[in-house]
Amino acid sequence: MIKTAYIHSNLYASYDLGPRHPLQQTRLIDIFDRLRLHGAFGTDLVSFDPIACIESDVLAVHSADFVDVVKRASKGESGLNLSLYGLGPGDTPAFRGMWENGLLYCGGSVTCANLVADGTFGRAISFAGGLHHAHYDHASGFCILSDIAIAINALKARGLRKVMYVDIDVHHGDGVEALFRSDPDVLTLSFHESGAWLFPGTGNVQDRGTGSAEQSVWNIPFAPNTGGDIWCDVIPRASSHLFDEFSPDAVVLQVGADALAEDPLGHLVMTRWEWLHTVEKLLQVFRDKPVIILGGGGYCRPAVVDVWSRVAMLASGQCWSDDLDEAYSVSSKDSWDFHHATMRYLSEQRDLSI
Ligand SMILES: [Zn+2]
Repeated sequence: MIKTAYIHSNLYASYDLGPRHPLQQTRLIDIFDRLRLHGAFGTDLVSFDPIACIESDVLAVHSADFVDVVKRASKGESGLNLSLYGLGPGDTPAFRGMWENGLLYCGGSVTCANLVADGTFGRAISFAGGLHHAHYDHASGFCILSDIAIAINALKARGLRKVMYVDIDVHHGDGVEALFRSDPDVLTLSFHESGAWLFPGTGNVQDRGTGSAEQSVWNIPFAPNTGGDIWCDVIPRASSHLFDEFSPDAVVLQVGADALAEDPLGHLVMTRWEWLHTVEKLLQVFRDKPVIILGGGGYCRPAVVDVWSRVAMLASGQCWSDDLDEAYSVSSKDSWDFHHATMRYLSEQRDLSI
């Protein structure tokens, strides 16, 4: 049994890219409610509010110009050259309150770092985090601030010097890789659909880190329609090998749930069982080290609500029973309606680079 912290606030849902945008953080409220309904919280899984991080944490990762624009756009200031910073229209629109929300979701990931670093918890989860496309000086792919990089810095500052970042989102974790590609103490390992087919177009197998960090960037791309026979075998084996070789002090696991067959954006075809089984195997590989679990993509709402709530159960050593599905019943019609609405939205946004 590994004691697990679960960081949540309904204010996470104020990450508001618009009512028809594929990324809807209201999904996090559904997950929290589902877990509560199932009686998941107790001694094994303990819920906490996120503690907002501070501006200097953000400035350690992002450029001052970018932070300034995010803060001004957050107040609704007009006349800003937003497109220079990757902000709207299109995939990452600016919204009022984005700075305060950014401090909160980044703070949620830092709260995870602090709870595992002081040894109170072996694992900590914040599904609002995992926004892996955020770059040093611009937003990208629905992601504004890099909570992941800020949390990794927090782990390092608390004495967990070597950090392994593992990303199973269907998209390449380009932002995190770029931020740490010259740091030999942070290994980034991304499993994703090949950039030849999918945003952001990067993440080739031959890419390496720079300078003394040559061995700390790893990418394993998959062809479209890759299923569980390959994905579920490769991910735990490659992760285990690099975990043994790198010997990290802590692990950050990004569990974007868009490699599922139900997801409208990617083209990998994992079943929920295959996806969850892989996460379970990864947790087994990392069992002796502190682990932070962050969210990411996942655009079939019923599927992401289902698998992420099960990840929280798995991480805290609790079994789920069949009646978990009954507690949160979603018809396949809901799923397909959402799929069609998402595809309509995407085709309307001609500059949407997913
Ligand atoms: Zn994704």
